[in-house]
Amino acid sequence: MSISASQPMPPSADRAAVPAGDRGLPCSNEAESSGTVTDRLVEANRRYAAAFTDPGMDARPVLEVAVVACMDARLDPHAALGLELGDCHTIRNAGGVVTDDIIRSLTISQRALGTRSVVLIHHTGCGLLNLTEDFRHDLADEVGQRPTWAVEAFRDLDEDVRQSMQRVRTSPFLLHTDDVRGFVFDVTTGLLREIEPRP
Ligand SMILES: [Zn+2]
Repeated sequence: MSISASQPMPPSADRAAVPAGDRGLPCSNEAESSGTVTDRLVEANRRYAAAFTDPGMDARPVLEVAVVACMDARLDPHAALGLELGDCHTIRNAGGVVTDDIIRSLTISQRALGTRSVVLIHHTGCGLLNLTEDFRHDLADEVGQRPTWAVEAFRDLDEDVRQSMQRVRTSPFLLHTDDVRGFVFDVTTGLLREIEPRP
């Protein structure tokens, strides 16, 4: 999750967030220039599909790896790790914490789709560093219903990576728990820092 308001973004010809007119493209379609964000995404998809050719790939990731990462907008796992289409499973949530649903995805990834390695990525400036379980209690007070999920907030990035590695390594559902490595991605330098697991 992102806590800072905005970051400079690299230019890209396919940026859906930039109105077509700002990219020097024809902008005759009213919906494209004044539509919602989703309208712009759909329009970007039309351009993507126009240039797309069927890569003829199998659903099984080529590198047999699953990447579990925070959903933070500043973290692009494919770019940061040199991954290409078809290389990996990318499983993301708030914090990149290993919840039951992450274990569900990893279990399917390993048992049905052949992955063997797990890479966990947290990052500096994560929104979960500023939250506590009070978030959950306040939410319950506001809406009158207690969420079934934990917020999974944390105060120590490294320790939460270790906790996440431990959850993967000790899961009874996974076939492969020998190659599980955890990292903190620095959103200002783009570098990964590896976290040593618990002994
Ligand atoms: Zn985050």
